[in-house]
Amino acid sequence: MRPETLAQNVRDALRDPVLTGALRRATDTFAQRRQGAVGSLPDWEELRTQAAAIKAHTLSRLDHFLEQFVQRAEAAGTVVHWAHDAAEACAIVQQLAERHGAARLVKSKSMATEEIHLNAALATSGREPVETDLGEWIIQLAGETPSHIIVPAIHKTKEAIGQLFVDKLGVPASSEPAVLAEHARQRLRAHFAAADLGISGVNFGVAETGSILILENEGNARMTTTLPRVHVAVMGIEKVIPRARDLDVFLRLLPRSGTGQHLTTYQSLLTGPDPEGQGPRELHVVLLDNGRSRIAADERMQSTLACIRCGACLNACPVYQSIGGHAYGSVYPGPIGAILTPQLQGLPAAGKLPFASSLCGACKDVCPVKIDIPSLLLELRARAVASGNAGSGGRLEKLVWRLWSWCERSPRRHRVAMWLARIGARVPFAAKLLPPLRAWAASREVPKPNGKSFRATYRGEREGGR
Ligand code: SF4
Repeated sequence: MRPETLAQNVRDALRDPVLTGALRRATDTFAQRRQGAVGSLPDWEELRTQAAAIKAHTLSRLDHFLEQFVQRAEAAGTVVHWAHDAAEACAIVQQLAERHGAARLVKSKSMATEEIHLNAALATSGREPVETDLGEWIIQLAGETPSHIIVPAIHKTKEAIGQLFVDKLGVPASSEPAVLAEHARQRLRAHFAAADLGISGVNFGVAETGSILILENEGNARMTTTLPRVHVAVMGIEKVIPRARDLDVFLRLLPRSGTGQHLTTYQSLLTGPDPEGQGPRELHVVLLDNGRSRIAADERMQSTLACIRCGACLNACPVYQSIGGHAYGSVYPGPIGAILTPQLQGLPAAGKLPFASSLCGACKDVCPVKIDIPSLLLELRARAVASGNAGSGGRLEKLVWRLWSWCERSPRRHRVAMWLARIGARVPFAAKLLPPLRAWAASREVPKPNGKSFRATYRGEREGGR
């Protein structure tokens, strides 16, 4: 699926009752857990304000904090690489694998590596990494892509996963989560033990110390970043934060927003390699731009980069809840995807995505870093329309607005239009029968025009007052 085929993707998703059922159950559960976890912190709003301020400050001096991060990381023995785009980032990881003769690679969950399609790039030389996050591993077995930022297999029921394991692993049929997890554990352990190179993402890069922080719940990232002799971390340049004590704010916000946990089970804070101890002998950080510096320079859209990838906006979004992640046709789904993907891929490719929103504002309400997603969606919509990238719906919309403008330029035409609207409102189901309104009215109440127009009321009152 691609963002260009959004309308068809949506139709296909809505026709799949298993998908919509699985989505509704999962997003409701996460939303309830988040509610409980947020309620346990009396200073939640204060924390959100602090996080938004830290992010805004960092983005206003991104070059400074990145330079500081690189300097401190290198001083600790980390090798830092700059990648202008996806191809460069993949080439760097590829070369590192070649240089170390690494044939067996493991990877923990990382949206940045999904964004650059790292697995596909490494597969061209027979080095496709084994995904070690349970959800990612399921997706890899199924030959699919993740449909959620933190829960990659959210669209799959446990019965579907059980059948997948029967087909791909030849194990007895079961839909018991504990049994399925045990099958995964057995196989992944062998991969960890044999791996030469581990690949991860980064949740936060601390400029003050040159450290990287990786959050997770399964222990797979811990093993990916310690067992293989080389660890390569791919980090979007927006992941840098100024000070170690800023983590105190983000560590209270991110797990509560994402999974409703007070803290993730594992937090791996890595500062340089660990050649003498039990960690990797080499630590490489690939700093990924891939369009981010362009977004950082766009004052109106810069706050997009404040995202900490918690996934809360996806769980709260009525559109995501109905169509799931694949329908967006991009690595980043949901409200954050609707603003990030058009900026990363450009409006010609993804200009329809900002229209995949009801603008209800639920995403803004739950965002732990207070990104005003509805405003950014409106800005992107305006840009998509102005550049002719709003899709075919844009032409119809233009025609409707032209007609409306023509009516409104003449009092007589305005009166006729209002009269017609009132007549139409009296015909039962009129809006549900007319083709342009049918789809809109299928799931909404069509507002009825007032029985008496403003002009008639005004005239009546004037005459009555005489
Ligand atoms: S936009 Fe906000 S709510 Fe959505 S994933 Fe990013 S940080 Fe979380």
